[in-house]
Amino acid sequence: MSTVAAISTPAAAGGIAVIRISGEKALDIAEKLFCPFGSKRVGDMEGHTCAYGRIVSGGEALDDVLLTVFRAPRSYTGEDTVEISCHGGIYVTRRILREVISLGAEPAAAGEFTKRAFLNGKLSLTQAEAVADIISAEGQSALASANLMSEGALFKEIKSVSDGLVSLLGALAAWTDYPDEDLPETDPETILKTLRESETVLEKILRDYDCGLVFREGIDCVIVGRPNVGKSTLMNALLGYERSIVTAVEGTTRDVVEESLRLGDVLLKISDTAGLRETSDEVERIGVMLANKAIERAQLVFAVFDGSEELSDADREILEKLQTKRSIVIINKSDLPQKLDKKYINADIILEVSAKERLGVDKIRDEVYKMFGLSGCAENPTVFANERQKLCCDRALGHIRTAIAALGSGETLDAVTVCIDGAAEALLELSGERVSDAVVNDVFSRFCVGK
Ligand code: GDP
Repeated sequence: MSTVAAISTPAAAGGIAVIRISGEKALDIAEKLFCPFGSKRVGDMEGHTCAYGRIVSGGEALDDVLLTVFRAPRSYTGEDTVEISCHGGIYVTRRILREVISLGAEPAAAGEFTKRAFLNGKLSLTQAEAVADIISAEGQSALASANLMSEGALFKEIKSVSDGLVSLLGALAAWTDYPDEDLPETDPETILKTLRESETVLEKILRDYDCGLVFREGIDCVIVGRPNVGKSTLMNALLGYERSIVTAVEGTTRDVVEESLRLGDVLLKISDTAGLRETSDEVERIGVMLANKAIERAQLVFAVFDGSEELSDADREILEKLQTKRSIVIINKSDLPQKLDKKYINADIILEVSAKERLGVDKIRDEVYKMFGLSGCAENPTVFANERQKLCCDRALGHIRTAIAALGSGETLDAVTVCIDGAAEALLELSGERVSDAVVNDVFSRFCVGK
């Protein structure tokens, strides 16, 4: 395989930058560029050692650097690897990379180093994908789950299921292919037990994925309510600082204000809207239209009502719109004498708060956690890195369920075997133990260069 090189640190000026060279010629190339201040040549350096010296090209000194040698197979990629840590100027770093390439290395493609690590058996495909995930992880929880995966927790769970299925397939095949041998018949009970166990594990993994996704990507929320019920005040209470313009004149918050805020460990992407209301004023009308759009898009609606007033027609209209959405009804101004009759509100979750006095606002967090099943998830975030993995798992679960149904309806073992085979195949593709080149290329093309 060719020798490749790239700048592995971000393309910005920094304290240091790292140029990574991996492949058969990595040491030779480094040797030609590097003049050690000590006595050892690069070719004589042991793996996991580092030397101080100067990068020289055509008699010109480019930079004083630290050079680290990793020898195959004990390197990230599993190949001979050299890392040059130079001073982090963009110009110097590119210049050194150019020299490395002129000496015979090829520019590394996106994800090339991690792809090589995968091809050399240093990482499973799920671990490799987790690397991409760690690079782009936002927020503590996301990072924690990405880390968990690169240690292979998900891989192990998937593997235990696929091992079970593969050995079941082995037993079934042996029994049908060698009817004359005195092999024990694989009885439907045993098959069913394995299938049910596999089903349970996969279902749990898929559930975790859903809440993992919530941690990673946040929740799109929208705050609705007629003017003056206290939406902006509530949003400010949640945000902890003044963001929307809060006034006592109706309709001041005319466009949709978008804000992100952290509620516990989860990111809420909140749109505050002009309120849903039939109106003749053009600007307001646009605001209302935007509000309707925001509701359609949102995963969660906070509907705010004024507890110190009776329910109005506009309130009822808003309640109508909530019927098909995941929503939390918030009755605000609990500090004032209450006039709103709750029995007219048909909703699962009704919270009474005072946004102004910041009373009861904490309950919102608890409800959001409950609603998205996040409470149990935070401590156990073994999740897929991406949709590809999830779709494989979906497919496997589908096959397992078909197999269970086939057994139940007395289908032949042949038919059941076909389903189990499909499930095992999907799981082996998930973990990367059996994947096509197309899948591998697709996975690594999503990395950035230098990883
Ligand atoms: P919006 O139009 O729905 O965004 O409403 P605002 O947040 O602008 O609030 C309208 C008015 O209600 C302001 O005068 C707020 O101070 C007041 N307000 C908001 N929340 C509360 C509350 O919990 N209690 C009381 N007493 N007044 C509130």
